[in-house]
Amino acid sequence: MSQRRPLVAANWKMNGTLASLRPLLASVCKGIANGVKAEVAICPPYVYLGEVGRLLEQTGIALGAQNLARQDAGAYTGEIAAAMLKDYHCRYVIVGHSERRTLYGETDTVVAEKFVRAVGNELKPILCIGEYLEEREAGDTENVLARQLDTVIEKAGIAAFADAVIAYEPVWAIGTGRTATPEQAEEVHAFIRLRLARHDDKIADQLRILYGGSVKAANAKELFNMADIDGGLIGGASLQADEFLAICRAA
Ligand code: PEP
Repeated sequence: MSQRRPLVAANWKMNGTLASLRPLLASVCKGIANGVKAEVAICPPYVYLGEVGRLLEQTGIALGAQNLARQDAGAYTGEIAAAMLKDYHCRYVIVGHSERRTLYGETDTVVAEKFVRAVGNELKPILCIGEYLEEREAGDTENVLARQLDTVIEKAGIAAFADAVIAYEPVWAIGTGRTATPEQAEEVHAFIRLRLARHDDKIADQLRILYGGSVKAANAKELFNMADIDGGLIGGASLQADEFLAICRAA
C-alpha cells in the first residue's frame, strides 16, 4: 500500500471578515510551524485569496478556493474561472460541496465539468461526494456515491484523479454536530477506493480520501486512524485556531 500523506483542509465558507480572519490565520500559521506532519490547506472566501495567499507564503500551508466556474471565461457575471484561481497560486479547489449541490443546484454533470476545468488548469480538485440521511436510511449510500463518482470519471477520465482528492461528506453530518462513526466512514471510504480501483489500481491506492462532517479535536484521531481515511475537510472547527490545530496534529 502506498504511503499517503494526510491532508487537512479548512473550508471557511462565507464566514469572518479580515478583522477576524487575520488573527485566526496568524494563530494557525504559528501552530503549524510547530511540527504538524500532515499537509494543511486553507480555503478562504474568494475575496480573501490574495490576502491569505500572501500570509501563507513560506509557511508550507497550501491555498485553496471553495468553488470555481464550469466555464473557462466569458459573460458569466459573478463567476470565477480556474485560471483566475491559478493567478492567486491556489493549489486546491473544492468541487461539488453539498452546499453547492443543494443550495445552488449543482448537478453531478455540473460538478464533473468543474472538476475538468480544475484539472485542466493544474488545480487539484477536492471532489466532495456524500449522501442525504434519507438515502442512507433507504440503504442507497453506495448507489448515490457511485453515481456521483462515475459521472466525474466518465467526463474527466480516471487519469485526472491522479491529481485529485476526494472528500466523503455525508450531508447529514455537515454542520450538524452529528459525525459518522469511524466504522461507518471507513466502510464508505473503502467502497470509494474500490470503485476507483475498477479503473486504475495505482491511482486508487495513491488517492487521498478525506472525511468531512462535524470533525472536531475530540473525534479526529479515531477517524484518521482508519486505514482509508487520509485526513479531513473541516468546516466549523476550522474557524477556531485551537480546534483546527488539534485536528491537524491528529492527522
Ligand atoms: C464542510 O462544510 O465541508 C464541513 C465538513 O463542515 P463541518 O465540519 O462544519 O461539518
